[in-house]
Amino acid sequence: MIETERETGILERSYDDGKVSGCLFCKAPLRTTFVDLGMHPLCESYVGAAQLNQMEPFYPLHVFVCERCFLVQLQEYVSPAEIFTEYAYFSSYSDSWVQHAKRYTDMIVDRLSLTSKSFVVELASNDGYLLQHFVAKGIPVLGIEPAVNVAKVAIQKAVPTLVKFFGQQTARDLVAEGKQADLVIGDNVLAQVPDLNDFVAGIKILLAPGGVVTMEFPHLLRLMKDDQFDTIYHEHFFYFSFFAVEQIFAAHGLTLFDVEQLSTHGGSLRIYARHEDDGSKPISPRVVGLKNDEASFGVTKIECYRAFDERVKESKRKILECLVEIKNSGKSIVGYGAPGKGNTLLNYCGIRTDFLDYTVDRNPYKQGKYTPGTHIPIYHPERIRETKPDYLFILPWNLKDEIMDQMAYVREWGGKFIVPIPLPTIFE
Ligand SMILES: [Zn+2]
Repeated sequence: MIETERETGILERSYDDGKVSGCLFCKAPLRTTFVDLGMHPLCESYVGAAQLNQMEPFYPLHVFVCERCFLVQLQEYVSPAEIFTEYAYFSSYSDSWVQHAKRYTDMIVDRLSLTSKSFVVELASNDGYLLQHFVAKGIPVLGIEPAVNVAKVAIQKAVPTLVKFFGQQTARDLVAEGKQADLVIGDNVLAQVPDLNDFVAGIKILLAPGGVVTMEFPHLLRLMKDDQFDTIYHEHFFYFSFFAVEQIFAAHGLTLFDVEQLSTHGGSLRIYARHEDDGSKPISPRVVGLKNDEASFGVTKIECYRAFDERVKESKRKILECLVEIKNSGKSIVGYGAPGKGNTLLNYCGIRTDFLDYTVDRNPYKQGKYTPGTHIPIYHPERIRETKPDYLFILPWNLKDEIMDQMAYVREWGGKFIVPIPLPTIFE
């Protein structure tokens, strides 16, 4: 069951009149464009054959930066209930992501000395890809996941899961049942909650005294340095610098005391937070180092953000140049993967079956469907062996090493790989 009360709150705040509302953290008016990618369908709304001739809703992908707190954000064009209730993303379909989850579990259980008396809560626990590793170690867990279809898979794996959106109310309900978490985990969820203040306030309530929060999210600095415009989509309301997240957590009585830089999702941060009055965990020198790096890049200066829009246009031209050149030489190109980010790239660049004959995905949920907006058919990866294309255009470029490994056999017929981001590059 999705909380109706919360759903109503969200719908009330969405806007239909085309006016830009305030910053979703500090409420200051939003005036400065970070990047405007035009109109896009929801990137996880894969189209069935029966819907091909029907209208698809398109929404703006116009990202702003707040001049007061420098939070980079999308306006809430679509309600989360619309996006996340039935969700096509199953974390377990990526081998490297499941391995990442296993390594994290071993590290954090050791670092925090977690035992069968601890309690671990993961927010947006998806199909249980992460919590299953805690269950295997006998550590009590609870997943909180709003998408009914993925939560069902977690429950089948014996990962206890509450099907809900998380916020202050859910946290209070858990605390009333005597449940407070020694570890709260949130991987790639912080960007997806438009009511950021309610979400972080909920974490503060749920966290036991002496407890630790770890969260992972793509780092804005990597997005800007590598022109990763395709990581922008309606599911991601926020694009965070450490600087921005530190302010948001501090506003809710939580202190970031450590941080790691990870290679996942094109470059992510893993932050560690505690209650502000918990003196047992000193601030790590890594926090100071990262804040210095961000400051010298310019995250507290508005000019730094204004330059991004033009670089994205340049990136589009380069990707199209690369594809046009290949097609003009009479070669065939197919896509590899149908990730959310791929759909931003395909729609923004206008890449359809004029460039890519088809794409493939390991997720059976997507096979037999078409990419939203661009209607490129999605097949099982075996199709590549059958049709022997000259080029594979890798849409989930953050997994390019894993994919080029899995698909190494295309070289048997001289097949090559194209990685579009940060600059279109061909791998033989
Ligand atoms: Zn703000």
